Amino acid sequence: MKLILLGAPGAGKGTVAKLLTKMDGSVQISTGDILRAAVAAGTELGKQAEAAMKAGDLVSDDLIMGIMGERLKEDDCKAGYLLDGFPRTIPQAEALKVLMKDIGEELDMVVDIQVARDVILDRLTTRRTCTDCGEIYNVKSNPPKEEGKCDKCGGPVVQRDDETEEAIGNRLDVFNEQTAPLVGFYEKEGNLVSVDATTSQSVIDAITARLDANK
Ligand code: AMP
Repeated sequence: MKLILLGAPGAGKGTVAKLLTKMDGSVQISTGDILRAAVAAGTELGKQAEAAMKAGDLVSDDLIMGIMGERLKEDDCKAGYLLDGFPRTIPQAEALKVLMKDIGEELDMVVDIQVARDVILDRLTTRRTCTDCGEIYNVKSNPPKEEGKCDKCGGPVVQRDDETEEAIGNRLDVFNEQTAPLVGFYEKEGNLVSVDATTSQSVIDAITARLDANK
């Protein structure tokens, strides 16, 4: 399947994407994960993205389209992809439309994962992430078995730099200003599915029901 997962930071895009990859071999493509890996490796890309990321601002559309233009042409994308955290602005959505036309592909749907702001704030402040494999934990509801150590790969499980209260507030404002308008964009394109995301499973159920209906 080829999906865009839209939704505020902390809406559960990454968790849903990871569950979907197990269904049909589609790959999860998270621009946030790609950028964090670049920052950790100290590459040129990482250096260009680091300050904006730390403040909870967006990195430039050009930088993101440079990454995605290459990434979507890789072989593992042939089985399908779940775009997690991309596109995040109208110019990125426009550029993606052109890119997909060029490579002769169409999206199955765009899923808007809706979660109340208070739930998101609580989730983000309690979220912890493995810096090696990206596995997501929560100090209250899903802590790693051994504190600070990933159950899956043994890597360090930490609070992200951009999950301080100040950066979270900024990320939510940036989302409302720059990313929320994508809902209207994809509504016009005719492939938007809005899901009230009480649990990740309810999102998966809504997606599979729509995929079945489209068959
Ligand atoms: P995420 O893990 O998706 O929350 O992304 C973490 C940070 O990476 C964001 O707060 C942005 O600074 C940057 N980022 C990730 N994806 C994008 C994108 N599509 N456009 C611009 N900045 C992005």
